[in-house]
Amino acid sequence: EIVQGLDNLVANTAYLRAQQVNHKEVRKQRRLSLPKLERSSTLRAAVKRDYASLCELQPIGRKLFWQFLLASNQQYAAAAEFLEELNIWDLAEDEAKEEAKQSIIAKFCKAGSSSFLSYLTGEAAERCQAVSEKDFEEVMMGKVRKATRDFLKRKPFSEYQKSPFFDKFLQWKEYENQRITDRYFYEFRTLGRGGFGEVCAVQVKHTGKMYACKKLDKRRLKKKSGERMALLEKQILEKVNSLFIVNLVYAYDNKTHLCLVMSLMTGGDLKFHIYELGPRGMRMERVIYYTAQITTGILHLHSMDIVYRDMKPENVLLDSQGQCRLSDLGLAVVLPKGKTIFQKVSAGTTGYMAPEILRQEYYRTSVDWWALGCSIYEMVAARLPFRDFREKVQEDEVTRRTLEDECKFEHRSFDAPTKDIISLFLKKKIEQRLGCHDDDPREHKFFQNINFHRLEAGLVEPPWVPRSDVVYAKDTDEFRDMSEVKDVELDAKDEKFFKEFSTGVVSIPWQREMIDSGMFDELNEDCEAMPPPPFITP
Ligand code: ADP
Ligand code: MG
Ligand code: MG
Repeated sequence: EIVQGLDNLVANTAYLRAQQVNHKEVRKQRRLSLPKLERSSTLRAAVKRDYASLCELQPIGRKLFWQFLLASNQQYAAAAEFLEELNIWDLAEDEAKEEAKQSIIAKFCKAGSSSFLSYLTGEAAERCQAVSEKDFEEVMMGKVRKATRDFLKRKPFSEYQKSPFFDKFLQWKEYENQRITDRYFYEFRTLGRGGFGEVCAVQVKHTGKMYACKKLDKRRLKKKSGERMALLEKQILEKVNSLFIVNLVYAYDNKTHLCLVMSLMTGGDLKFHIYELGPRGMRMERVIYYTAQITTGILHLHSMDIVYRDMKPENVLLDSQGQCRLSDLGLAVVLPKGKTIFQKVSAGTTGYMAPEILRQEYYRTSVDWWALGCSIYEMVAARLPFRDFREKVQEDEVTRRTLEDECKFEHRSFDAPTKDIISLFLKKKIEQRLGCHDDDPREHKFFQNINFHRLEAGLVEPPWVPRSDVVYAKDTDEFRDMSEVKDVELDAKDEKFFKEFSTGVVSIPWQREMIDSGMFDELNEDCEAMPPPPFITP
């Protein structure tokens, strides 16, 4: 037992130290360079010339397009700076917001200024020059922003694609296509155990970035026919791009496992925080903050016609800053096209399942709002609406209560807005439930102190921050021995599936890793010394 305790201590120390590592130091040991351009020619033909994807959504694409604009001419540079400053104004508060507004008007709207938006024409030009404090938002966020984007999409975008900045982008895309193997990472302690294998912490060798790696045992997957579900989970994870849902960054395989490399959540899950840390339950400030982030995450899934189906505190994980994300999308499904109603399937966890699931009726996204109602209740009261803490009760009885009983609020912490939002999420009739009739749960007064706009930009400070010297996970020896699956043979058909799964890098989060770790700037150094583009346009 002492030896096990020591093992755990050693594993924790290594894991905590890796998190403190300075990215620069890691990189010094391994000099890298981008692949040469010659090889990019097939890529040049293959890259889809889509403005939104190339210049807005992909972080490296966006950076290089911006660098191109700033280096080209006064007019392009003004457009780029304007969008940047408008974005800052949009997210700022109080005095900073006022200052940003004044600066934008003086810099971009007055014909005499060197950064005047000279590409504007017609109504956009008139309104921009006549803009006042009062109609600033309407004019700038409306017509002027749209006209700027329309301008950039045409000549600047086509010139960019002929510039050395775009060559650089293609080199990064070439680099992005690399094959990922175990050797790409250092591996640290086990953080959790799932149905098909363990989840452990890993670190990318040349950037120092930490991730969680969910490993799925190939033989176990086959034995339990979990392949289709695993692929679906991977495909959903790579599609979502939200601050409040774990990001998938790499999908690869080795001899024995399929691996999903995702955002590392070091702060533990919300169930642990409700029941294990300090007095049971949670301060209201935290309940509201987490619920706001969860709501935003759920809305993001629903906007892509994805139903989460496993909303519960256990699946909400905290990162090192104290922000939360939804995890474990293994039960999530994509609704069929045309938003037809989804077939009956019993899925979810007892205590969080909506009446429509229990009655085996058709359902859509409504079930996630029900489960969120249960989860808010649990964060406050440290029990479920229809099941007391550690109550020994048959599943049938929980089902009966869910279908027939009204939810009671006996715990003293429930204030009026909290009771109200829970009651609305726990409406047994879908048509009456909050979030289920073209309404927006974010408008409920429970959230009156949350600025969702800033929250979505990651700018609202968390009410609680995990300690950086604590490992919020069970001891490593609690994850020992998962028996080996021996009686399963893998064949060509399985190999085909593994290949379909192992697609390597996921563009957007990977590019973000390159930028955040400083790799982008480092490998681009020669880009700054590039000659100015030959097409100086007025
Ligand atoms: P399964 O779908 O097999 O249940 P999960 O995705 O729930 O697997 O992962 C199993 C456990 O691993 C979780 O309960 C949690 O403790 C841990 N875990 C999962 N994802 C992460 C992550 N991104 N960061 C930290 N720990 C994680
Ligand atoms: Mg799980
Ligand atoms: Mg799962």
